[in-house]
Amino acid sequence: MEGKASLLDNMIGVGDMVLLEPLSEDSFLENLKKRFDHNEIYTYIGSVVISVNPYRSLPIYTPEKVEEYRNRNFYELSPHIYALADEAYRSLRDQDKDQCILITGESGAGKTEASKLVMSYVAAVCGKGQEVNKVKEQLLQSNPVLEAFGNAKTVRNDNSSRFGKYMDIEFDFKGDPLGGVISNYLLEKSRVVKQPRGERNFHVFYQLLSGASDETLKKLKLDRDVSKYNYLCLDSASVSGVDDAANFRTVRNAMQIVGFMEDEVQSVLQLVAAVLKLGNIEFKPEFVFLTLVVFTDLKEMCELLGIEQSVLERAFSYRTVEAKSEKVSTTLNVAQAYYARDALAKNLYSRLFSWMVTRINGSIKVGPFSVVMGVLDIYGFEIFEDNSFEQFIINYCNEKLQQIFIELTLREEQEEYIREGIEWTNIEYFNNAVICDLMENNQNGILAMLDEECLRPGTVTDETFLDKLNTICAEHQHFESRLSKNSKFLTDHSLPHNCFRIQHYAGKVLYRVEGFVDKNNDLLYRDLSQAMYKANHNLIKQLFPEGSPAKINLKRPPTAGFQFKASVGTLMRNLQTKNPNYIRCIKPNDKKASHIFTESLVCHQVRYLGLMENVRVRRAGYAFRQAYEACLERYKMLCKKTWPHWKGPLFFLEERRRQCLQDLAALIQKIYRGWKCRRQFLLMKKSQVVV
Ligand code: ATP
Ligand code: MG
Repeated sequence: MEGKASLLDNMIGVGDMVLLEPLSEDSFLENLKKRFDHNEIYTYIGSVVISVNPYRSLPIYTPEKVEEYRNRNFYELSPHIYALADEAYRSLRDQDKDQCILITGESGAGKTEASKLVMSYVAAVCGKGQEVNKVKEQLLQSNPVLEAFGNAKTVRNDNSSRFGKYMDIEFDFKGDPLGGVISNYLLEKSRVVKQPRGERNFHVFYQLLSGASDETLKKLKLDRDVSKYNYLCLDSASVSGVDDAANFRTVRNAMQIVGFMEDEVQSVLQLVAAVLKLGNIEFKPEFVFLTLVVFTDLKEMCELLGIEQSVLERAFSYRTVEAKSEKVSTTLNVAQAYYARDALAKNLYSRLFSWMVTRINGSIKVGPFSVVMGVLDIYGFEIFEDNSFEQFIINYCNEKLQQIFIELTLREEQEEYIREGIEWTNIEYFNNAVICDLMENNQNGILAMLDEECLRPGTVTDETFLDKLNTICAEHQHFESRLSKNSKFLTDHSLPHNCFRIQHYAGKVLYRVEGFVDKNNDLLYRDLSQAMYKANHNLIKQLFPEGSPAKINLKRPPTAGFQFKASVGTLMRNLQTKNPNYIRCIKPNDKKASHIFTESLVCHQVRYLGLMENVRVRRAGYAFRQAYEACLERYKMLCKKTWPHWKGPLFFLEERRRQCLQDLAALIQKIYRGWKCRRQFLLMKKSQVVV
């Protein structure tokens, strides 16, 4: 006990912002900075963990730390992500409650690292045994595999997640992990063919070229020299502090652990090599026909994938449109051929990625299970100089997550107090529902309008989409401004002619409309999927099922935006059925540097994350909740009616139980008064007591 007390006495600053006196934005930031300067990167707001990225490895994730936090109450020790993981795990194991860990913050704030820390903590404290250890190892090793294929260096983050990931870890009634299911959300596939300046393609390309043996590269017909590949940007081929070659070995090993057979690994690498080869195919106009140049790459790609060269050449030269009764072929010009090549590369890679997720699930998925812990790690909010469809999608997803946080921690809690008739002074907060609506409303939301435009016959361009947006959103804005002053679609004359701007919860973002229609349509010429289907290569055949002659489907596939919105909707509903645990990640500086705490930058994040409001609601509200039964069971000995004659089952009688609880509440209230404590012990209608 003494040890614990001294630990808390030595606390740097205030560990829980709820206890901060006086509370103001300045004192909040000062406390965060003070703690950060002393390597205390975690701070609580009640049960919410704030995590400030240290940008260097701290000795706080050792096995000893795991032991320290294991089975200890949340507030017993100094704030740590392990405390949250422990709390979530114990309530899953002991109370059979499904949990979800919601990790939010902008790009580079530390979400992916946090998700891995939670997973490794849970793996360390849950059951042991050969079978269980194998499952744990598989769950953990899925991370390096997916990161190699789905993460990339961006200007914001050297290991930026370019896809959204939600992983349900499944446990049995004893709390032993049985397996898991991973869901992936829209990979930023445009990166495969083009990267912004200072950024890289997905890690795996560089890892393969620098880490594979000479023999493997020879088999894949690859050259070790990155500069030989058009799809690999040259100005940042290597990242300081990142050893691509070593990472390749880690990924190879991890693929084996998660269950990839050797021939599957080879197939995957062949496809990665094929993408690189595709990028080197060039076209030039000749009399009537296109000519493919850099012939060796085309030839080698066909050899790798078992495709007849003439089939692919033809697919790059013609586009066949099939209507009900006729088939019309038109020749492609050079620009169209490049477009087709890039579309094929993007599709090939993103389908490979989804296949890998399915394949991993095939190894780790089980049933029946008892309870689950969901860990959500998505791409963080992004504001770049040049923002396109991808940023729109990423930011939409972040808005939705912020919405869940607002709903559960700010709105519902306040409404509950009011419903209960508890004296309550309303705490104002910004509700981003209006932005979500602007983006996703079925009638006049931006995604709906984009879909409408994509499906409309006639000439559809990014400009026609922008016109529509400007007309309808401006009306929407007008309509809205009569209801509230909350207009999030910003129009003003300073806007470049090909852009629109949204006031997101985390800041204003200017989106360039170029490519929206195309990326949303996500069409691949049928000639190409048919050519891929004809390949004498199991995996590639599987990836292009629509190329099968038996599967001629004249219906358009759903658009990328439509699919994303639907999957985010499902995810949000799923999250709402679970007990949420929040980790709010903060990025201390824009330089990816340790020891720098840029106050203005942190202040901006504290504001848009709604952290001040979060503290205010927590301070004014009731921090602790317990179900009636558990409360009676725990405090039965305090009250004459319940002790020593404790008749557990009797209390299932509603009336009697309430009476006992009221007596208990009165008694506890008296004790509090004796202690001169401001706390209250209240019975809520929703079979809960709150303190
Ligand atoms: P994105 O949205 O771009 O995927 P992210 O929020 O997932 O960003 P991370 O990749 O988790 O960001 O973190 C960025 C980098 O910051 C990491 O690669 C690592 O170098 C550093 N980092 C983050 N968290 C920690 C930590 N707890 N300890 C040490 N370094 C960290
Ligand atoms: Mg990440």
